[in-house]
Amino acid sequence: MPDYLHRLEFGTFITPSNDPATTPVALAQLSEQLNYDLVTFQDHPYQPAFLDTWTLLTWVAAQTERIRVSGNVLNVPLRPPAVLARAAVSLDRLSGGRFDLALGAGGFWDAIEAMGGRRLEPGQAVQALEEAIDVIRGVWDAENKTPLRVPGEFHHVNGAKRGPAPAHDIPIWIGAYKPRMQRIVGRRADGWLPSLAYLKPGDLAAGNAKIDEAAQQVGRDPREIRRILNVSGKFQPQTSGTLQGPADQWVETLLPLAVRDGIGTFVLGSDDPRTLQTFAEEVIPALREAVSVERGPERPAGAPVVRSLSIRAKRRTGIDYDAVPTALADAVIEPGDARYSRVRSTYMRGGSPGLVLQVVSVEQVVLALAFARTQDVPLAVRSGGHGISGRSTNDGGIVLDVSRLNSIEILDEQTRRIRLGPGARWMDVAAALAPHGWALSSGDYGGVGVGGLATAGGIGWLAREHGLTIDHLRAVEIVLADGTVTRADAQENPDLFWAVRGAGANFGIVTSFEFEVDEVGDVGWAQLALDAGDTAGFLQRWGAAQEAAPRDLTSFLIMGRPRPRQPIVATVMAMVNSADPETIVARLQPLADAGPLLDQSVTLTTYAEVMANASSAGHNAQGEPAARSGLIDHITPEFAGAVARMIATGAVYFFQIRSVGGAVADVDPAETAYANRSANFSITALGANHAELDRVWDELHSHFGGLYLSFDTDLRPERLADAFPPATLARLVEIKARLDPDNVFRDNFNIVREQALTG
Ligand SMILES: Cc1cc2nc3c(=O)[nH]c(=O)nc-3n(C[C@H](O)[C@H](O)[C@H](O)COP(=O)(O)OP(=O)(O)OC[C@H]3O[C@@H](n4cnc5c(N)ncnc54)[C@H](O)[C@@H]3O)c2cc1C
Repeated sequence: MPDYLHRLEFGTFITPSNDPATTPVALAQLSEQLNYDLVTFQDHPYQPAFLDTWTLLTWVAAQTERIRVSGNVLNVPLRPPAVLARAAVSLDRLSGGRFDLALGAGGFWDAIEAMGGRRLEPGQAVQALEEAIDVIRGVWDAENKTPLRVPGEFHHVNGAKRGPAPAHDIPIWIGAYKPRMQRIVGRRADGWLPSLAYLKPGDLAAGNAKIDEAAQQVGRDPREIRRILNVSGKFQPQTSGTLQGPADQWVETLLPLAVRDGIGTFVLGSDDPRTLQTFAEEVIPALREAVSVERGPERPAGAPVVRSLSIRAKRRTGIDYDAVPTALADAVIEPGDARYSRVRSTYMRGGSPGLVLQVVSVEQVVLALAFARTQDVPLAVRSGGHGISGRSTNDGGIVLDVSRLNSIEILDEQTRRIRLGPGARWMDVAAALAPHGWALSSGDYGGVGVGGLATAGGIGWLAREHGLTIDHLRAVEIVLADGTVTRADAQENPDLFWAVRGAGANFGIVTSFEFEVDEVGDVGWAQLALDAGDTAGFLQRWGAAQEAAPRDLTSFLIMGRPRPRQPIVATVMAMVNSADPETIVARLQPLADAGPLLDQSVTLTTYAEVMANASSAGHNAQGEPAARSGLIDHITPEFAGAVARMIATGAVYFFQIRSVGGAVADVDPAETAYANRSANFSITALGANHAELDRVWDELHSHFGGLYLSFDTDLRPERLADAFPPATLARLVEIKARLDPDNVFRDNFNIVREQALTG
């Protein structure tokens, strides 16, 4: 009795009639309402009475929200596989991973030939289908950077570009009746899709045997292959034949097909709404119940079916993939998975983790952490994936990805209390707060995640007036190394709350943040381009103007690598927290006077508009960033001169000074783990090469009074003493030893006793 371990699923099989064209769409929507998993359509492109199935699939996907869509089955002789593969990726991405690909080798050869297709003999059609699968899988293999070549006899592809990857691992199912085709299912496909009407008694068992044998011959586990069956019939009070009777007779007929023949998906062919409804309401629940009586409780959605041979081949050593708890099945993304290419790297850093656990609940965070702790590989924690110091990816390790914990909630209008998930991004936070007339100063880039920034500091556009992001933090919920989920605020776990505000990444995984936000109206927003040929003089003038300005002005300055025969230009971006044009101009003028003004743009806008500066695309960085940070009280002539010399070396391709001070300095340095609060400026440099950057940066070291850890990639132990004054570091070391004695959380500015003592 085969049990292929698949959760029972149900689909509908609807005629793609074109008159009226809306009927199949309405039936697809009804299928969704009735909770079917899947809606499918036959594909006969030569049939004028039918809509084109591909067009219908895309239309239906757009008109539904949850249900998956598939051809049943798509006509490969008339759908060139390379184009079909790209169309499938497009539909899968547009629909949020709701497309399944069912293929057929063709039939009705006169009609195919009449449409310009090539007539194939049965043996040829089998070979053509196998070649088509090579092409389709090759196009989907976005991780493979070589051009795709398939020198097939019927389908040849000569150097096609691969990718992008689909949104999910699109299964390939094959409609197959003959042994040769069934063997292809066993060797290559993810599902077998025959119709009950075309099968004789014993055909399912014989087909399964052929498929299983072919699978085993190539080292596959037969359970990789889902068995899908098209069924049709009529509900009537009296039984008059197979699936011609009341619902309980249907259940009796389908039960052995599920438990004896291993059918995992039943697809009901009908255009009658009442039949679809009766099946959904009377057959599906009863069949589920009957199957669970026969073979044990139903597996939860997403429970691990056997992963395919190709996925298993890409697994990394040191991770016991089969031991991942069932409750995390939906969270798992492995190197062979379609989604992997979008989660392997971060905004700044290339990575190749062995396992990404993209969790959706606090319970899953706890489970994922417990699992990760049993594996002897590095652990990284990821929220928005914009870590610079934070290595939220790795090579061969585990990434615990909380990006989908991205809720944004208003807790209390009166006290302007909000709660954010760590995966929320600051542009979305700003957009959600804007209608209330509120803002929370975060950073300068909307794509950055809450999790990384709000555990480190948060130097943003309103810093001088409203302080750091962490200065607005009132409470966190955090999962500690031992799996405890705890709250930390001023009263409860005050030590931990203190540590989270500046060194949070060392102490646990924050699963929610409560903030008190500010009332912020329209703001002035300026971008000025200034000639910085006299680099040292310009930096001093800008620094003096910024320091002398009221707190409603916060500005950042950026300079790049000098280019031959081009002027040295500095870009100053400034926010004035005022809606009054005269105030805005008055604040900006001293900055504009710091050097010859080359260009300017000033607008009256909102904080949310300024933060809407990032895209939602996945990250695909390569290599390792080299970044250094320093905090300084004043831009002295000596410092400005040293910076000018450093920029002239060309070792730094991005140099930035952010103004801080103001409200940031109002907070007692002992109040949070972010303690270097006297600085008026935060300085950052990015270089192409670590050693070269370190060499030029170390020459500036004597000028600095600390660093902002988020902007520093240096792993040398002495950086700890730069990031934290002695008393702060001693307290952090003590709390770390207590709450994370095994140093589980070490991917970001790791506080370890030995380093702290020697640093
Ligand atoms: C383009 C860009 C612009 C930036 N602008 C600013 C800015 O204006 N102001 C500023 O202050 N910073 C800024 N940063 C730095 C940024 O704050 C940090 O890099 C921050 O860590 C990114 O957070 P994330 O969640 O996106 O990153 P991730 O890469 O997801 O996380 C970075 C690290 O933070 C830790 N972490 C992540 N999530 C959690 C969690 N839930 N609980 C505990 N620890 C966690 C982990 O150690 C992780 O390695 C910028 C970075 C970039 C790349």
